[in-house]
Order: sequence, then C-alpha cells, then structure tokens
Amino acid sequence: MQSAAVVNFAPEYGSVEIREIDQPAIGPDDVLLEVAKVGVCGSDLHQWTADHSWPVNYPVVLGHEFGGHIVSVGENVENWNEGDRVVSEMAAIISQDNPMTRRGLYNLDPTRQGFGYGVNGAMTRFVRVPSRILHHVPDQLPFEQACLTEPCCVAYSAVVKNGSIEPGDRVLVLGPGTIGILCAATARLCGAQVAIVGLEQDAARLEIARQYGCEVIIGDAKPWAMERDGLGCDGVIDAAGASATLKIALEMVRPAGWISKVGWGPQPLDFNLDPLVQKNVTLQGSFSHNWPIWERVIALLTSGQLNVKPIIGGVWPITDWHEAFEKMHSGAVVKSVLTPV
Ligand SMILES: [Zn+2]
Repeated sequence: MQSAAVVNFAPEYGSVEIREIDQPAIGPDDVLLEVAKVGVCGSDLHQWTADHSWPVNYPVVLGHEFGGHIVSVGENVENWNEGDRVVSEMAAIISQDNPMTRRGLYNLDPTRQGFGYGVNGAMTRFVRVPSRILHHVPDQLPFEQACLTEPCCVAYSAVVKNGSIEPGDRVLVLGPGTIGILCAATARLCGAQVAIVGLEQDAARLEIARQYGCEVIIGDAKPWAMERDGLGCDGVIDAAGASATLKIALEMVRPAGWISKVGWGPQPLDFNLDPLVQKNVTLQGSFSHNWPIWERVIALLTSGQLNVKPIIGGVWPITDWHEAFEKMHSGAVVKSVLTPV
C-alpha cells in the first residue's frame, strides 16, 4: 500500500515534492502510527529553502510535529495498543549507551537522529515510531492541537528549565515566531510580565502574541526593559533566528539576570561580550526536550492552561504542502498544520 508523502529529495533549494511511498515496515520495538495531523516547523521550511545547517539523509519525508493512532505494534512492545491516541517525540534514533542518554538527556546525545531529517518523518499517512518516545493524548485534546506538543516542549524547556522566573519578573522575548510566541505564553504561565519584540513586518504575528497577555514591541525594547527601575529586565528569552540578537539581550538584561538562547543562526558575532561579565549575567543555551517535559506539556495542553489555537493559521491536506509552507514562510501565519491524504 502506498501513500502520498512530502519528500525532501536533495540539498538544493526547492527540492521538495509529493511522492508515493510504501507503508514502512516496523521493528520489534516500534509501533506503526497513522498520522492524524502534522505541524510544519521552521526547520521543514529551512530544508525546503536549503538554508539549514544540519545533515539530512536524502531523500527523507519531512515532518516531526505529529500525532495520530497506533495501527500496529512490534512484538516487544508492551503497554501500547492498536487504537491508542498518541504523540511522538523527535528522537527516533539514539544510542542507549551514550552517557547523555543514560542520564535521561537523550535529546543531547550527539548521535541522536530525528524525524524529518535523519529518518522519514510524518508528512505522510504512516510513520514508524519507537515506542519509547510515545505519549498518550487524552480524548479531549484534538490532534490539531496535540501535534504542536513538540514546539511547546521547546518553549517549556527554554523558559522553565533553562530560564528562571519568579512571579512578577519582567521577561523580554526576542522574535515572534512559533517558538517566541510559545515562550511568551509559557513565561506568562510562570507569572511573569512579558513583552515580545519584533520588526515592522512581524506585526500580524505580534498581534497573535498579544492574545497571550504579552505586551508587543516593534523596534526598540529598551524603554520597556528599563521601565521598572532602570536596571533592565530579569530575563531575556532569545528566540530570534540569529546569533546577533544576543547583543540586544545583553543590553536589556539587568545585572545578575539571565538569558535563555533558543533561537539560532549560523552568522558569526561581531561584538564584545564584556557586558556578560560586567553584569554577571547567566547565559544559557536551550536545545530540545525530553520525556518529563512532554508529559508536563501534554497536561498543560489538556487542561487548557496552554492554548495553541491562536497560533494555528490553517489546516491543509499534505498535497497542498506548498501553500501551507509559503504562508508560514511569508509570516502570514504563525503555524501551518497538515492532514495526510
Ligand atoms: Zn519543530
């Protein structure tokens, strides 16, 4: 049986097309998952436009933000059954012996390979998933929202695990993409006063951020950062896709404050890091997520404390992937979601 898949077939710009692929065979520790919904990630766009900075096993089916039903289970799989509603983490391949894996930080195992670049992803009808990265999705949480668990986990990790928020703290978020907006929403959940900064062309996305109870700033964030006592804000979450925004973060943060950097870009820096030293600032990188973060985020999505509905700009059949990608690429929508056909 064959199904349509959104395939990234080469490292050149625009090398994405619909191809018919066979239903994958599963191993003894895997399940076969029938995809209900799959989110489009900025990284899918980067592979399409060939400005990504990670190795890709071409050809590969795109898509790592997904959920659906289990349709069959491998012989070693316990506690999962046909018909279960699930979402899957990204870490399709890890080394069980890696020291990072052994301490539960398999997301930081350098040999880790994820869906959509290392192995075939979920922009198709069936995907092979190791049972160790599955999570139950309660009936009341629709797949359209559940499929966005992954970017919510990125934000939770950047804000809760790698930031440090007390209620009433002032937290500035740089970059109004999916991750920036979800970071702002998560910082609000932690009790912070939050502002999110973008450029003129981000106006539509910033309006969506406003729905999460954040202030919106186009351009200079300094007045907001200095408003309380002139020293700067307590924390900065840098979710912009560039290294250079670190300079802004260092200007806005108060002495003994923190910066959680989750956005990245390949450009080198051209400024001096003395403010980091002089202000005694904690600079923390934030990458990916692991099992306990997924469980917590699913609980937040299920209770409605974290609501991803405002960021969903539309749902398209995967055969219309081009329009869904283009809308996100142009910034017309924050997040596109696809349905397999
Ligand atoms: Zn993603």
